[in-house]
Amino acid sequence: GSLLEARALHKAYGPTPALDGADFAIRPGEVVAVMGPSGSGKSTLLHCLAGIIRPDSGTVRYGTHTLTELSDARCSALRRTDFGFVFQFGQLVPELSCLENVALPLRLNGTRRKDAERQARDWLTRLEVDGVATKRPGEISGGQGQRVAIARALAARPRVIFADEPTGALDSLNGERVMGLLTDAARDTDAAVVLVTHEARVAAYADREVVVRDGIARETAGAA
Ligand code: ADP
Ligand code: ADP
Repeated sequence: GSLLEARALHKAYGPTPALDGADFAIRPGEVVAVMGPSGSGKSTLLHCLAGIIRPDSGTVRYGTHTLTELSDARCSALRRTDFGFVFQFGQLVPELSCLENVALPLRLNGTRRKDAERQARDWLTRLEVDGVATKRPGEISGGQGQRVAIARALAARPRVIFADEPTGALDSLNGERVMGLLTDAARDTDAAVVLVTHEARVAAYADREVVVRDGIARETAGAA
């Protein structure tokens, strides 16, 4: 069955709906690319699925929870324990070293400092950036920063990873390498990945594509 499922989502910020009856479902270990032109509602869909914004109507179910019925506090608690996030820019804490950044979600979930730092180092190694462990985010390249951000998103073993244009700031070689590392790590931990992108070469790393047009999400026919 599906791990995360949305039905009939409607959301409007103004007179024109951003989501106009969007459906979505993802199973554990599955990587789904959400595609569509700019302004079609991709980010709004992702934010509704992650419980960051509430749709005006429709439901989002995650496991046994109905996110759209939870309080903001319970929703953010669930987000912290079960979801990981990778965005295009600026998600690392600038005052912390890269190692401390990756250890942070583990510390927040109650892992002791030594264990958190050992696991963080393992994730940095896996993402091929153990060399930047002691550096701050401002001292590393865009490609390195994105790998550190992915290590941080994976460190707390989330069940769902939400990635919004995760390779948008990278050149195509780095983008493909980062996508390979992200999807391999996600599949190894049986995490689902909701990947928002407008690039076909990034979507090629997904098991399946969902296309959003004018706020309506549709499964693409015959997607691999
Ligand atoms: P995409 O991610 O596909 O570019 P978005 O979900 O960001 O699409 O946006 C869908 C529509 O909703 C667009 O018309 C956008 O301008 C509008 N929109 C998105 N976020 C907001 C907001 N916070 N306030 C007002 N309008 C918004
Ligand atoms: P990548 O391909 O991973 O983005 P770059 O080719 O941009 O890497 O950078 C190569 C090296 O230059 C990196 O190892 C990094 O240490 C250094 N570097 C790149 N950008 C910056 C930056 N903005 N500030 C400090 N160092 C940087």
